[in-house]
Amino acid sequence: MGNQTFAIIKPDAVSKGYTGKIYDRIIQAGFNILSAKLLKLNNDQAKGFYSVHRERPFFNDLINFMTSGPCMVLVLNKPNAVRAWRETIGATNPDEAEENTIRKDFASNVQENAVHGSDSDENAEKEIAFFFTDSELLTNQ
Ligand code: UDP
Ligand code: MG
Repeated sequence: MGNQTFAIIKPDAVSKGYTGKIYDRIIQAGFNILSAKLLKLNNDQAKGFYSVHRERPFFNDLINFMTSGPCMVLVLNKPNAVRAWRETIGATNPDEAEENTIRKDFASNVQENAVHGSDSDENAEKEIAFFFTDSELLTNQ
């Protein structure tokens, strides 16, 4: 398994002032941050990033939400990073998320759910490349 995953602190969490608290969770869970930046997605970026969901009924609302304000994009490093980060964030719907997960503690609902996490090593690699060049990542080996 790979040791990198891609994360977003979504606009709901940034606007509510949860960025620092979510950084604490990232560090406490043993991840190293290899890169991070604050940006506001435009429509094309949000649609491209979530293109796998373009036929879903929630797609337009999701794009509106993801472009509604700044978000923080990050590359995280830890052995088995994809799985470890998905465990740290919890289920997509915060009502179904385990105690002490980021979504349980900071998400509002199934759409405004505070954070993103890649779902496979293959997608992690694609998502990292969508937002970062190689030279922007700390090697951290
Ligand atoms: N989403 C939504 N309504 C749904 C399911 C998902 O608005 O019924 C949003 C939510 O922000 C979620 C994102 O679409 O994080 C991507 O959905 P996915 O099923 O990939 O969930 P994730 O991988 O983020 O847990
Ligand atoms: Mg997903």
